[in-house]
Amino acid sequence: MSNYQALKERVYEANMELDKRGLVVYTFGNVSEIDRNCGVFAIKPSGVPYEDLKPDDIVVLDLDCNIVEGTMRPSSDTRTHAHLYKHFENVGGITHTHSTYATAWAQAKAAIPCLGTTHADFVYGDIPCTAVMTDSQIDRDYEEETGVQITDCFTERSPDETPMVIVAGHAPFTWGKDAAKSVYHAVILEQLAKMAYVTKGITPTLQPLKQAISDKHYFRKHGANAYYGQK
Ligand SMILES: [Zn+2]
Repeated sequence: MSNYQALKERVYEANMELDKRGLVVYTFGNVSEIDRNCGVFAIKPSGVPYEDLKPDDIVVLDLDCNIVEGTMRPSSDTRTHAHLYKHFENVGGITHTHSTYATAWAQAKAAIPCLGTTHADFVYGDIPCTAVMTDSQIDRDYEEETGVQITDCFTERSPDETPMVIVAGHAPFTWGKDAAKSVYHAVILEQLAKMAYVTKGITPTLQPLKQAISDKHYFRKHGANAYYGQK
């Protein structure tokens, strides 16, 4: 019996949810969750199709990416996840997909502007797009540097208020308090990316939503004075 059975089951379920929600094809995508008390995180193994994935295949690693439990190779994006766990202290789960609309914005190297209240309900401000990776970054540890690309993008904004990012030329990463919440944000991001794309198609020069409405929607759901939903 594993010491991390519950963690592995949660990560398995979260990875399967990505497939169920139509955010991934073949082996694309990966979800992880950290147990901060134990100093380990669990992640999908590399290159395993979702229909073959089992909870026992989930790999458990420490934050230096040494395997603590598991016989399979972890996701090739593991070092990106570890970097984010080290730098975003409130993050408990991380999701990476190549979902179509969010990836299209990433390929266009464009932040997703806040054009309406659907967006403002979930994210404060635009959904940022990282800088393009430099040649020297590509020559170093590529997956670690993908994490650096992301944390560099959050020097002046909070990952707690913006639980998602698009990596220029690549695809999105999202996060949350656990693996399930990071998948939820991946689903929301894809919807916001699609809505923004369609809206820009109608009015290409459209400016972002008025700040006061954007603030109203964000802060009625988040923070000390939130009043949306049930207590
Ligand atoms: Zn990727």
